[in-house]
Amino acid sequence: MVRVAVGFGSNIGDRQDHLDAGLGVLSASWTPVSRSSLYESAPVGPVEQGPFLNAVAVFETTAGPAEVLSLLLAAEQSRGRTREVRWGPRTLDLDLLLYGDRTVEEPGLTVPHPELTNRRFVLEPLLEAWPEAALPDGTPLGGFLPAVRDQHVENVGPWNVSLWRRTWWRLLKAVSRKQ
Ligand code: AMP
Repeated sequence: MVRVAVGFGSNIGDRQDHLDAGLGVLSASWTPVSRSSLYESAPVGPVEQGPFLNAVAVFETTAGPAEVLSLLLAAEQSRGRTREVRWGPRTLDLDLLLYGDRTVEEPGLTVPHPELTNRRFVLEPLLEAWPEAALPDGTPLGGFLPAVRDQHVENVGPWNVSLWRRTWWRLLKAVSRKQ
């Protein structure tokens, strides 16, 4: 079994619903180990778009790296993900952050994910879900956090809100907007 960390992101539609659906697809094939809280972050890059909801989940699997990536792409597609605009808005973005302590350099797959250490919205939830996470050379990832602390990321609560609680929450938000 290999421990893998997957980064989740969404900034269109019902963002948590997309994250929940992605988690459901991956959990049906792999053993879920832990998951982070939900984080809200400002979009990075040149395209004007809404804020992201981000999270990280850790799984154990016997699947090889290419097989892991193909399930991530299938889960993205199950939420209608298209790639019309590079760095554009997306229903569900899934990134393979770590594949155990292995380095993978294949066409279309680089692990650890190249942006892993530069982005607080990835690093912070990853360390929450997997506090001892490290690069393949053994460098603990916690050491990279101070350098990204100036990026704005907000922990918006646990990633375990049930459907009825979310429905209440939305209703309350709609009512308070009307007042
Ligand atoms: P994007 O979803 O726009 O971040 O890019 C997805 C593409 O990046 C996929 O089609 C993969 O082939 C490629 N890719 C390379 N390394 C990774 C990785 N570690 N995790 C996810 N996608 C990756």
